[in-house]
Amino acid sequence: MVKLRKKWVVTCAWPYINAVPHLGTLIGSLLSADIYARYLRHDPDNEVIFVSGSDEHGTPIEVEARKMGVDPRELTDKYHEIVKELIEKFRISFDNYSRTESETHKEFVREFYRKIYERGYIFTKDEILPFCNKCNIYLPDRFVEGRCPYCGYEYAKGDQCENCGRLLDPKDLINPKCTFCGSKPSFKKSKHWYFDLPAFEKELKLYIEGHPRLPPNVKNMSLSMIREGLKPRSLTRDNKWGISAPFPGAENKTIYVWMEAVLGYISAVIEYFKQKGDPERWREFWLSKDTKTLFFIGKDNIPFHIIVFPALLLASGDGYPLPWQVSSTEFLMYEGQKFSKSRKIGIWLDQAIKLLPSDYWRFYLTLIRPETSDSNFSWDDFQRKINNELNDTLGNLIHRTLSFINRYFNSKIPNPSEMTEEDKALLKIVRETPIIVSRKIEEFKFRDALVEVLNLARKCNSYFNMKEPWKLVKTDKEQASTSLYVLAAAIKTIAVIVEPFLPDTAEKIWETLDLPGDIHTFNWLDAYHPVSPGKKIRRSKPLFTKIDVEKLKSELSML
Ligand SMILES: [Zn+2]
Ligand SMILES: [Zn+2]
Repeated sequence: MVKLRKKWVVTCAWPYINAVPHLGTLIGSLLSADIYARYLRHDPDNEVIFVSGSDEHGTPIEVEARKMGVDPRELTDKYHEIVKELIEKFRISFDNYSRTESETHKEFVREFYRKIYERGYIFTKDEILPFCNKCNIYLPDRFVEGRCPYCGYEYAKGDQCENCGRLLDPKDLINPKCTFCGSKPSFKKSKHWYFDLPAFEKELKLYIEGHPRLPPNVKNMSLSMIREGLKPRSLTRDNKWGISAPFPGAENKTIYVWMEAVLGYISAVIEYFKQKGDPERWREFWLSKDTKTLFFIGKDNIPFHIIVFPALLLASGDGYPLPWQVSSTEFLMYEGQKFSKSRKIGIWLDQAIKLLPSDYWRFYLTLIRPETSDSNFSWDDFQRKINNELNDTLGNLIHRTLSFINRYFNSKIPNPSEMTEEDKALLKIVRETPIIVSRKIEEFKFRDALVEVLNLARKCNSYFNMKEPWKLVKTDKEQASTSLYVLAAAIKTIAVIVEPFLPDTAEKIWETLDLPGDIHTFNWLDAYHPVSPGKKIRRSKPLFTKIDVEKLKSELSML
């Protein structure tokens, strides 16, 4: 009998590639999703597809290309390669990192909307749109800003207020301005196609109210939007750069970038299986009600993933499973300020990877992941956590234990003799920690999960200091052997449970222990199974070095 494995589709918001992602984007979507996808792969019962891609259509890139006098595709070909390479350097373990210019995606989007159109959920309407006479362009979405009618925020964009998260229409804005030249737009008529979002109010309400996992803030925000009444969502734009709209009479229009990029969650899985030579298999994932779909996004994306995307899936009538979980993060600040490329506030991935290896960033960002409120990247705190926790607590424990075995036990895991109470107590903690860490990850508390790994390392360090094996090895070799056997067991466990957070480090520990199998898919439940006595290990090398932030800051200023 073939055992059916649990199917997972893990995704995160697609990065818009007119700029290299910064550290906030890394922890907010890419890295958070990666931690979970990596964790899931440690259970042999799971089959996990982890996808994302470059979001490359829409007005910002079109305008940039127009200014430079090049074809937008020329720009995004270049940007896509840069972002893809950085994502690999940060060890984000996508099965498929696609792009919205992929033929599979474009074809899927057009077919998807043709179907919704045929099912009667798309209609046309003359729209009054802001038009900048000075720039001679329509000002959809983010090209117009003004005061939010709900919360009064001064810089709300035409499609959404970043402050309160409400979806907006350009004409809702108080005191609208052209984003480029600041002039007051006039309003002109243009025919556009709309998605009948209100038709799904009842179904969405049932879905959200009955959702067992949605965090209360996400639930409340979405339900209050439904109570206020959903509005039809505009589907088309007058831009050229995008996916041409498949509706009769819409030949000169493209699909609004937000409304097509979300379908990439599906098309990237289709593309993945196509590339594997198994083109129908995506259906087992995306058309099965048993599949768990999981989305990692920033808080400004909540309405889109809890309301608009599920409504689109329902409108298709194809039976796509609605999001199993949407895990959103708050914002990451940089030294108390918002990231800003123009004002040089923040660190971008191309800079970060030149300063330090990816595990240093992955470590610190996980510890400051903005899970319940905005959090802050601070250089002082970065130095403290890297030097005291990553280097001293974790790195030193592993290196001093393994190099001790190299030196005093001829690189062989020693044989334990009778266990003392302390030995047994530590082994109990080693056995329990993977269970605690897994529970924290499943609750999307990645900070706590990593802290638990550090707590284990801390306890191992105290045990090492208390046992003083460097003395025992001369006076009581049997006890020294037992202690090092216990510590080696702890280190093997740490390699497995730290892997979702620090994949490079986990690989290095695994290599030094010279253990068989792939650390990235090693069964989590077997994390605690001590390494066999007599097993030969390799020569240990230090895993990390201390950092000096003044030096790093001056290097950053030159990049
Ligand atoms: Zn607002
Ligand atoms: Zn203008």
